[in-house]
Amino acid sequence: MSKPLAPGAAIGIIGGGQLGRMLAMAAARLGYRTVVLEPQADCPAAQLANHQIVSAYDDPAALDALARQASVVTYEFENVPVEAANRLALSVPVFPPPRALEVSQDRLAEKTFLNANGISTAAFRAVDNDGDIAAALDAFDGSGVLKTRRLGYDGKGQRVLRSGEVRSLEGTFVAMGNVPLIIEELVSFECEISMIAARGSDGSVAAFDPARNVHREGILRSSTVPAGVPEEIAGEARRASFRLLEALDYVGVIGVEFFVAADGRVLANEFAPRVHNSGHWTEAACVVSQFEQHIRAIAGLPLGEPGRHSDCVMENLIGDDMDRVPALLAEPNLLLHLYGKAETRPGRKMGHFTRLSSGV
Ligand code: AMP
Repeated sequence: MSKPLAPGAAIGIIGGGQLGRMLAMAAARLGYRTVVLEPQADCPAAQLANHQIVSAYDDPAALDALARQASVVTYEFENVPVEAANRLALSVPVFPPPRALEVSQDRLAEKTFLNANGISTAAFRAVDNDGDIAAALDAFDGSGVLKTRRLGYDGKGQRVLRSGEVRSLEGTFVAMGNVPLIIEELVSFECEISMIAARGSDGSVAAFDPARNVHREGILRSSTVPAGVPEEIAGEARRASFRLLEALDYVGVIGVEFFVAADGRVLANEFAPRVHNSGHWTEAACVVSQFEQHIRAIAGLPLGEPGRHSDCVMENLIGDDMDRVPALLAEPNLLLHLYGKAETRPGRKMGHFTRLSSGV
């Protein structure tokens, strides 16, 4: 293992949202300083970091300033420009490796990479015109999910096509934005689970127990642990996550989402090269959270033991859910976490809470 980051050293974080905020909190507790690069002033992360560089993510002068100020750089969202990460990597260690960004930013590259490393996904095809959609639907029994290859998140840039629907496919490609697409088989799933796993700079790996996730309108609503899936399914998801970490020569925390299909298949849907919303429960139910685990990994410290001391359910507070805060605060065994966003907007993640149930 390389030498651990010295106490008081600065960690650079690209992106200023709630994930960066929680990383800054974890870094502070381990004795590190943080510098956030984010164009929006007074962002959630900068409220808790030591310093903010207010700048576009791809501004060369700002990136060079970040490289000078930080001893290691990480990021909190997967659409960090790859060129920016590569520029930084010339002068400062960047974890997770920029290659993880490159693969995860394009759904076609991502699924191709997963399959190439022995990790199963839903069947998929590249789509560059309406004809490709028709051909894929024929192969997929008439149903499929169209997604933009790049820059889709929280269910945006997606359209479900169901067999038996009366429809004309003409104009579909243009209506999806006239950009490269992917079409996937529509998976009939029992549930969605995610693995939050980590790889240290010494190559050691650790995974939290999988969470069972519920999405509404494409946004994560809740994560429940234990996920209630048989150990063989959890084991398959864990092994797939570890294989992915190795294949990417990864350092840090990764979030991998899976479908548990009705026919028993465990299919990776996508991975996020960062801490993940479905791992927020770890701050309440584990001694070492996913945020601390990430900081430990990128700082060259030993990974924490990922066991949990309680079962729990994490729920996101989205938009007007903020009205629930007083009642939630009155509950015992509930950890509330708000992100410091001044303005509540529909669909905006404002905070989350984790309700502990029994101890394990
Ligand atoms: P994604 O942006 O890929 O995470 O998709 C958002 C949500 O859409 C997922 O969490 C699933 O609930 C649903 N979804 C995405 N892809 C598929 C698929 N191939 N089959 C069935 N449901 C899907």
